[in-house]
Amino acid sequence: MSRVYNFSAGPAVLPEEVLKEAAAEMLDYKGCGMSVMEMSHRSSVFQEIIETAEADIRDLMQIPDNYKVLFLQGGASQQFAMIPMNLMKNKVADYIVTGQWAKKAAKEAEKYGEVHVVASSEDKTFSYIPDCSDLDISEDADYVYICENNTIYGTKFKELPNTKGKTLVADVSSCFLSEPVDVSKYGVIYGGVQKNVGPAGVVIAIIREDLITDDVLEGTPTMLKYKTHADAKSLYNTPPAYGIYICGKVFKWLKKQGGLEAIKERNEKKAEILYDYLDESKLFKGTVVPKDRSLMNVPFVTGDKDLDAKFVKEAKKAGFENLKGHRSVGGMRASIYNAMPIEGVEKLVEFMKAFEKENL
Ligand code: PLP
Repeated sequence: MSRVYNFSAGPAVLPEEVLKEAAAEMLDYKGCGMSVMEMSHRSSVFQEIIETAEADIRDLMQIPDNYKVLFLQGGASQQFAMIPMNLMKNKVADYIVTGQWAKKAAKEAEKYGEVHVVASSEDKTFSYIPDCSDLDISEDADYVYICENNTIYGTKFKELPNTKGKTLVADVSSCFLSEPVDVSKYGVIYGGVQKNVGPAGVVIAIIREDLITDDVLEGTPTMLKYKTHADAKSLYNTPPAYGIYICGKVFKWLKKQGGLEAIKERNEKKAEILYDYLDESKLFKGTVVPKDRSLMNVPFVTGDKDLDAKFVKEAKKAGFENLKGHRSVGGMRASIYNAMPIEGVEKLVEFMKAFEKENL
């Protein structure tokens, strides 16, 4: 068996330890004689899996008691609709557009109410985070929306926007559990788990209880109401059971690593190795304003499309997979989520140095 260094933006690398454990339990989960994939979501065994997963993520993120943790489906993209359907009481929301995902979320919300884009970094291909310290927040805004880490462009909010008292909603799909967060600053934090937490098919939404009500937009389908899932403890219908089980294992793994402070330190170390090299390289260049650089997604270019393509091809041959940038921006992107080992980044930099020597 040989595993590559997988720099995919998502679905992405998961801890080897978790995958091995899941493989060992595949045919017989703890003496049940069946896989978690095959068992009833109403069984006591699965009940324990989902309850333990919730307890562990609560512990890791220090989630206050007045927040619900929901395990949902439909991808992060389904939240683009669920958020306005559930939260737009005044039918007004403010969006900060720092990339395609926030833009898509804003466009979806327009179907349900008035959307104000209060800040954007589209003027410079989303290569920075706009100053959000004194925004023109709408008086009647039901919430202010951000995409906290921009997977495609490699930017991250290092400081949360000043929402002037309005509820903050954040898509954290690509920085989920990569560092500690103060949950109490948000109304909703949500993310697709397929980058840092587990397999595609699960979305985790952490929502302050007062935002979970029956007062939703008229016509909201039962499955798209947060209250449906909160009341049923994420078991209103058949949940993505196997995915939740893997997320639970990743939570345990994170705890074993020392929790979110420890993982942040490791993520900073990894990112520094790559950014330091990009800053000194004469061939490669990072595309993001240094102060807004993501710890998770690192885009870079040579400035020559053919050379970029050559690099991606040769890197793949050398065992570094999925380094091609998003189709909308080109160049390269190394996604270095929690489960990417430090050696993976060190070896990538070694490879880049050798490529630079040969191609400069
Ligand atoms: N939000 C962010 C930040 C993403 O990176 C992605 C996917 O890459 C999405 C939303 C969309 O996620 P999904 O494919 O689960 O709908």
